[in-house]
Amino acid sequence: MIKRSFIGLFPPVLQYEELDITKTVDSIKTPESVIFFVDKEYSKKDSLLIQPGDKISAGDILSVFNDSEEVLVPSVTGEVTGIEAFSGNFGKNYTAVTVKTTSNGKVNKEFGKSFKKASGNSLNQIIKNFPGVVSETVLINSDKPVDSIVITGIDSDLLILNNQYIIKNRIEEVKAGISFIKKATGIDNFTIVVPESLASEAQSAGVSVKTVELTYPNASHMLITQNIMGRKVIAGKTTEDAGVKIINAETVAAIGAVSVKSGIPDSKLITVINKDGSTNLISATMGTPINTILSHLKIDVNERDRIITGGPLTGTAIYSDLHPVLPDTDAIMIQDREDIPEILDNSCINCGECVRICPANVPVNLLIRFLENGEYDEAADNYDLFSCIDCGLCAYVCQVKIPVFQYIKLAKHELTRNNTVEAENA
Ligand code: SF4
Ligand code: SF4
Repeated sequence: MIKRSFIGLFPPVLQYEELDITKTVDSIKTPESVIFFVDKEYSKKDSLLIQPGDKISAGDILSVFNDSEEVLVPSVTGEVTGIEAFSGNFGKNYTAVTVKTTSNGKVNKEFGKSFKKASGNSLNQIIKNFPGVVSETVLINSDKPVDSIVITGIDSDLLILNNQYIIKNRIEEVKAGISFIKKATGIDNFTIVVPESLASEAQSAGVSVKTVELTYPNASHMLITQNIMGRKVIAGKTTEDAGVKIINAETVAAIGAVSVKSGIPDSKLITVINKDGSTNLISATMGTPINTILSHLKIDVNERDRIITGGPLTGTAIYSDLHPVLPDTDAIMIQDREDIPEILDNSCINCGECVRICPANVPVNLLIRFLENGEYDEAADNYDLFSCIDCGLCAYVCQVKIPVFQYIKLAKHELTRNNTVEAENA
């Protein structure tokens, strides 16, 4: 369960879960069919470079469109059976590639060699397929050169244990990953951020180690950059703008494993958060539909229960249990319909709880008035929308159950999209 301690009665102080060292990983068998999402809208059949009926191998580096740099590195060997459009959150469009797997199919043994030879944007595109990567992770970004790399050994949302598990059990691969990234980027300044209990494991990687207290949201990438690396992130800017690239330990370990053993980064570590708040760590082939994992763990999902990808504070509800495991599917959370927080169409009562808990000092009680009316420019210009570090605490404490965080995410998405369209048309 989410651990709360109380300073007075309110607001609550939430604590990250600490890894229980006896925790083991349950491996899920690769299913008969997997789905990959390519981060490009499927609009024109003519631009596709792969077709249903094509045979592909795990470890191929496949260009999917003739007008895009995106590549797909399949985690399985098999036959493409479908390619279709998929609409995700906030109307983001992907191309979904379905593959029928061939048991004991041959993998592409050249993958490791190709990976080690890749550089610049080709390397970035391959790494986007690695476990633990978040969509904006780009190893080499000449537009935003950074001087420091932080490896997070703690996940930024509650209850998720993936990165702690990696530090505890795969530190040699993390070390190899650091060595590869040093050569690929020329950056020498690495810091591993872990809870105090994992400091000695992290130290064996031979780079600087900093510890983070387990109070939420200390492991937020923004707070790590500011509080641990001592760099100010300006509102609306990223940690990279402050010279710091943050990469999950899981991704660094996957890079290390490929660079040393020439394997294929085909599996994703996932924390499954059950209805009672207990957790299971599982490893699944990327592309595995979530319903395969739920049936393996014998978790029943009934009508009106909710499936969430991500953690309790910042995760996103999904509408189908056929949704596949993606490189950034760090957690799958099942909420019983009785436990789903009520979302009410109430007006803000100006209680101020969201303001008191906000770690970024955003005047949330004022901001919400503009967000509810769709006045996003006003919210950004005068009410610190972009100072928000996306922790979700405001929605958690809201006395009248306003989905404040969802309003914030929508507003940021809309403004970013408008800016991108304006830049493209300039
Ligand atoms: S999500 Fe809410 S509480 Fe968290 S930083 Fe943003 S405005 Fe503040
Ligand atoms: S917690 Fe909810 S009701 Fe209270 S001030 Fe914030 S938005 Fe308004």
